Amino acid sequence: MSKLSRRKFIELGSLASLAVIAGATLGPAIYEKMHLVQIPAENLRAVKQRIKKRDVQVKYTACVMCAAECALEVWVKDGRVVRVYGNPHLTYNSRGAACAKAIAGLQLVYSPYRIKYPLKRVGERGEGKFVRISWEQAIDEIARKLVEIKKKYGPEALLTDTGDVTDRDQYWRLTFAFGSPNAVEHGAICDTPRRHGPKLIVNGKRWEPDILRPVPIRMPDGSLKWYDKHDAKLIIYVGWNPFTATRIVWETVGTVRAKKENGCKVFVVDPGFSNTASLADEWFPIRPGTDGDLFAAMLRYILEHNNPADPTRNYIDYSVLKYVEGWEEFLENFKSWWDKVDPVNGFKYFTLEWAEARTGLPKEKIEYLAHVFGITKPAALIWGMQSPGHHYNGYVASILGCVLNIITGNFEARGGVIDTEIVKSSKGGTATGRWFNTRKVKRIINGVEVEAEQEKLHYARYGDWPAAWDDVVGDLPRMIMEGIELKYGPFKGHKYPLAAYILRTGNTLITAGPVYKFIEAFTAKKPDGEYKLELYVYIDTILLESGLYADYILPEASYLERMSLSDIYPTHPIIFLRDAVIEPLFESKKPTDIMNMLAKKIYEYEMKEFGKSDIMPEEFWEKYKTEEDFVNEMLRVAPGRPNVGRPLPYPNLPEGYTLIGTPESLEEGRVKIDDEKKTVTGEYVTVEYLRKHYGGAFWPMSWYRYREWDEEKQDWKPGGIIKTKTKKLELHFYTYEGINKLVTESGVVPPSWRKLGWEKLPTSFYWFETVWNYYTNPEYVKYRDEYPFQL
Ligand code: SF4
Repeated sequence: MSKLSRRKFIELGSLASLAVIAGATLGPAIYEKMHLVQIPAENLRAVKQRIKKRDVQVKYTACVMCAAECALEVWVKDGRVVRVYGNPHLTYNSRGAACAKAIAGLQLVYSPYRIKYPLKRVGERGEGKFVRISWEQAIDEIARKLVEIKKKYGPEALLTDTGDVTDRDQYWRLTFAFGSPNAVEHGAICDTPRRHGPKLIVNGKRWEPDILRPVPIRMPDGSLKWYDKHDAKLIIYVGWNPFTATRIVWETVGTVRAKKENGCKVFVVDPGFSNTASLADEWFPIRPGTDGDLFAAMLRYILEHNNPADPTRNYIDYSVLKYVEGWEEFLENFKSWWDKVDPVNGFKYFTLEWAEARTGLPKEKIEYLAHVFGITKPAALIWGMQSPGHHYNGYVASILGCVLNIITGNFEARGGVIDTEIVKSSKGGTATGRWFNTRKVKRIINGVEVEAEQEKLHYARYGDWPAAWDDVVGDLPRMIMEGIELKYGPFKGHKYPLAAYILRTGNTLITAGPVYKFIEAFTAKKPDGEYKLELYVYIDTILLESGLYADYILPEASYLERMSLSDIYPTHPIIFLRDAVIEPLFESKKPTDIMNMLAKKIYEYEMKEFGKSDIMPEEFWEKYKTEEDFVNEMLRVAPGRPNVGRPLPYPNLPEGYTLIGTPESLEEGRVKIDDEKKTVTGEYVTVEYLRKHYGGAFWPMSWYRYREWDEEKQDWKPGGIIKTKTKKLELHFYTYEGINKLVTESGVVPPSWRKLGWEKLPTSFYWFETVWNYYTNPEYVKYRDEYPFQL
């Protein structure tokens, strides 16, 4: 166990407005100041003056209008929100600003289309005929029907789709406790391929440029600094339009600042002249769906022209390869294509000429991109949801994009790329109820009783499509129409219908796949006249198209009326509280209340029907008296990141141990250290703590987090934040190995593999074609004329 020591001082960084506090001991006061010092004092004074004049209550929460979930300051007067600003105290994400969309969020809260009270369908599905009912009636009828479905088909016949990932935990918990592992979120063709490479290689998700500033960084002298320097020298956005598409405000601000302050070049590779392209240094208009071809050519160029002895060609950072598992194997497989001739264009694979013929970019431009990316450090190659997502070989593009960043030394490097999943704060913990899925359940399959974990009943894990690993919901209509037959795992052969669907804050009908298929599935009837999908519950704040097909519509409190935590995109360990700043409007209810009401009624009906219930009172209404109780449980795992990097974020605490607790308690060593579990636990972060700190908490970090320092050998070793099997960056795909094992055991090859001629997934570099590029696939030429805007 490391000896605990106190920090000497904190230096507050380079912003003109920052005050330097030298010689101070660390404590809450310091962190308090660190929140405040990021905006000039006079600005803060002006804000306070305005507030005083208006006689308003000031509350802090987090935006939910896009994935950035910036901290907000909200003014409330007489129970009504009158202003929305950026939170001036927590400039971490947005530098205290709020974008236009955040302010427009009030149009959602006070929308005339809000669902005001529970509704019950009286016409046919899709006709839009509903009558007002009470909450009591709605909950009673839904719970009764759910128990009836459970009795007929088993609890797995319920699928809960929480649409967006935010504030979903209560619904997942209820679904898992009910006995179904089928709780999913949105996903069709956008984000899944983008995150495929990171998932395979580092067990992560989304790669973003390291431009989120300012961030608290431990400096080599032990001081803690609000680091506000932009180190990136080159950012290449491929099919990613952060200035408009997802409004990740820190990415917009960071890109502009990196350009202005650090002379960072910004290239945009995109078929369209996007907003980001219009502000970039160079725009590379590529043919849609060919970014994988571009990446392959860039990689070949870098490998062929790398020369460590020539500073103008020193592309590869060999020191990184020590932390890469399977590099030689990957290289061999990649190179095995180099002499093959592409039958479509007659060029050898991955050459500049080959890529020119496919991408439409002149080969000089491709060479330039490869060279400039290889030689400029730090640099970030970023591919968006819309690049690998929208073509057939998107997974290959995503893997190649990762490899390019890794071998050039830009992964987890200051100013390079950061995997958001493996650095952001943990939250949720036991509140999400995932542990219910580990309960053992029994099913009779072909007359034989089988017992295994509830999780193994999942409708699509390792299902017909590899994307089912990510709970893609595009194939739901087929599941509703045909039912589910488990093809893998212990419950192989188990059949069940998808009979109940709870859709919460999503518009599956429009966003998840072909609309007509969803309509067909929602309205399909059995011979006895009953809908195949026997129960469809729609829960949301406003009524969207998907709601028109529901049997029941329940009004959920808007994001300013309920409590939760920020979730998705930060590249550093931070948490913002999404606080309820006003009371729920009309008859809308908070997720915690909806969960408890349904749980209680299901419990009553199950006790009546089965004499026992899967719902435990002590896990619902007895435990969570308020939504704050629920959120406090979600916070019990925060920040949950290992103490890694050099200097260590917390040099006073053992390296590699998972950190749990408030920033101050960790800083001051008010912790319990568990050497067996390798955890350090300080004082838990709570709603109260977050409120006291303007709605946020943040923890310091370092770069190069996939390495740990070996004290004995005085050298770096693989490990750190990477949670892969080998603790290295894996270019041998162990995840695929696991899936292959499952498929081999079952003897059923997924249809999507068969299409590619595969019996197994390849465990190292693989390539398959971009099917819908008509330059490489003559079959698609006809679509060029029918859908010219897409191709
Ligand atoms: S960038 Fe997104 S999260 Fe931030 S204020 Fe704008 S809409 Fe809200």
